[in-house]
Amino acid sequence: NTPIKQRRRVLLKLSGEVFGGGKLGVDPATVRRIAEQIASTVGEVETAIVVGGGNFFRGAELAESGMDRSRADYMGMLGTVMNCLALQDFLEQTGVETRVQSAISMSQVAEEYIPRRAIRHMQKDRVVIFGAGAGLPYFSTDTVAAQRALEVHADQVLMAKSGVDGVYTADPKTNPDAKKFDTLTYSEALAGNIRVMDQTAMTMCKDNGLDMFVFGMEGEGNVAAAIRGTAEGTHVTV
Ligand code: UDP
Repeated sequence: NTPIKQRRRVLLKLSGEVFGGGKLGVDPATVRRIAEQIASTVGEVETAIVVGGGNFFRGAELAESGMDRSRADYMGMLGTVMNCLALQDFLEQTGVETRVQSAISMSQVAEEYIPRRAIRHMQKDRVVIFGAGAGLPYFSTDTVAAQRALEVHADQVLMAKSGVDGVYTADPKTNPDAKKFDTLTYSEALAGNIRVMDQTAMTMCKDNGLDMFVFGMEGEGNVAAAIRGTAEGTHVTV
């Protein structure tokens, strides 16, 4: 029996791209900026974070160059843990308490993934960072974001995007006629092949009535605003 929730609770998905600033590895200045924004909301909003790993490895890409897909996916998952530790460090430098929970056991650096404990951490004003995806090959961290949001009873899953500030009818970088949606349903996104997150993830959100907000990382204070529920972006619902 999960204790009653008093405050807004969100699951923030940060892709690996965000950590690397478009490059391989971690860009400390970028991670620090994000950490400071998250820290400014602690005490008001309960936040758990799912971290991607595309700035290190993507399993599907390594498999295309000849690696066994599952092994490549495990490399991808291990990459996410490095991003978790970077984010943990910059958050703790601001004075915020954090816990990393990994779906692959590595007790020196992270707790096991224990959902009820994750909820408890959030209730004690700790930011919980989920690493190693689902611990399963052939999954994406988008799908894990949906799953973890559901399991920890988040009110909303927040998809942070770099280079774009919401969901558009077409790619705004290449199509000047692209229009931003204020709201969108999962059915519309799936039918229109609008890539908000991967299809497995979207189906999971749709089937379980999970609310999603898509926003841009770039605007000043946007991450903090998204956590508080005051940012501009696209709201995706059932
Ligand atoms: N991955 C996986 N299972 C998971 C989550 C991730 O196998 O549950 C692997 C997969 O190879 C993926 C990589 O980890 O390509 C990095 O995650 P993702 O591509 O989702 O990161 P992002 O695109 O958000 O940076």
